[in-house]
Amino acid sequence: MATPAGVRPATVVVRRGVVVAVEAGAPPVGPDPIDYGDAVVMPGLVDTHVHVNEPGRTEWEGFETATRAAAAGGTTTILDMPLNSVPPTTTAAALQEKAGAARGRSFVDVGFWGGVVPGNAGELAALAARGVPGFKCFLVPSGVSEFAHVAAEDLRAALSEVARLDSVLLVHAEHPDRIREPAPGGERRYATYLATRPAVAEDDAVALLARLCRDTGARIHVVHLSSAGALDTIARARAEGLPLTAETCPHYLFFSAEEAPDGATEWKCAPPIRDAENRERLWKGLAGGTIGMVVSDHSPAPPELKRRETGDFLSAWGGISSLELRRLFNAWSRRRSPRLADSSYCMVFRKWRMFERAFPVRTYCSQPGLGLAWLAVMISTRSPLRSSVRSGTSSPFTLAATQRLPMSVCTV
Ligand SMILES: [Zn+2]
Repeated sequence: MATPAGVRPATVVVRRGVVVAVEAGAPPVGPDPIDYGDAVVMPGLVDTHVHVNEPGRTEWEGFETATRAAAAGGTTTILDMPLNSVPPTTTAAALQEKAGAARGRSFVDVGFWGGVVPGNAGELAALAARGVPGFKCFLVPSGVSEFAHVAAEDLRAALSEVARLDSVLLVHAEHPDRIREPAPGGERRYATYLATRPAVAEDDAVALLARLCRDTGARIHVVHLSSAGALDTIARARAEGLPLTAETCPHYLFFSAEEAPDGATEWKCAPPIRDAENRERLWKGLAGGTIGMVVSDHSPAPPELKRRETGDFLSAWGGISSLELRRLFNAWSRRRSPRLADSSYCMVFRKWRMFERAFPVRTYCSQPGLGLAWLAVMISTRSPLRSSVRSGTSSPFTLAATQRLPMSVCTV
């Protein structure tokens, strides 16, 4: 079992579906003991960045499929992003609708972020009172018309409300002035798409957020950081004591732009996967603590929206699904980063405790015995991939890609 003191033999005592004790060693057990043998038992992962598109776009991903994928991947709590569902979670009434859609269809604990869109600063207090741990906004178009991006004046209004509520604002950080028109004729080339969303767009947006953080005192969290060029800004802000945090995703740490095949639109996400040198710097940012968490940004779409038949990067939906691969990635990261290697299971435990303190999540859909519980993690390359990942249209994480993960490091 992974404990704060290391990986060692232990017993989890479960009563009526609730973990009531974790005992060192292997004490006498009650009825129905389950022996997990050499498998590691560890806390369920918390994924704070998941797009479930129900209600409204359930055919993209609904609560039943998303939470099954989460459980299969070792994640026992997801926080759902406020957009892609219809209505988006930008009002208290929409939150109620969303929670209603999740209830009875979820296999893990589910919490919800609220959304900041132009003109809804007056809704934030009601959303916070109903349990959203924070709010998400975009500085550039989100991809769906019902969730508009914010301008500077909307951002300031939202941030003063976020500060007053002692909440947090999650920001899709690409600066609109730096987004470029695509070069004509190269729509099947990944490089064409990459050039439209350069690293400087992220770097400038993060610099703006650091300034707003200083001006307003509001907590700001940069979602899915892809450009390592922004790491210095974040590190300096944090050294100054500003409440600015950041996350990145498995696809930015695993893939590089050089590998993206022509027409392989399952690679498309925003901000884009960048070059290998950038990827190595992201790893350093993670090991050094400037990047505080790795989240999936699971965002599937139907195959036809990924435009796989034409391979047109410019019109394809941007979003990668990877929710059920979290445990594989977690295991692989032990090998990949020496600093993470020694204590990765314990780190998961500590991060989980930190998360509980940082985000007191009210969960709406609890599955007794699974939500926020401990999971037995048995890694096997034979485990089938489910959901949209298997189709290969919605994610570059295909079976072939995951076979590059050195599974043997998981055997303890
Ligand atoms: Zn996202």
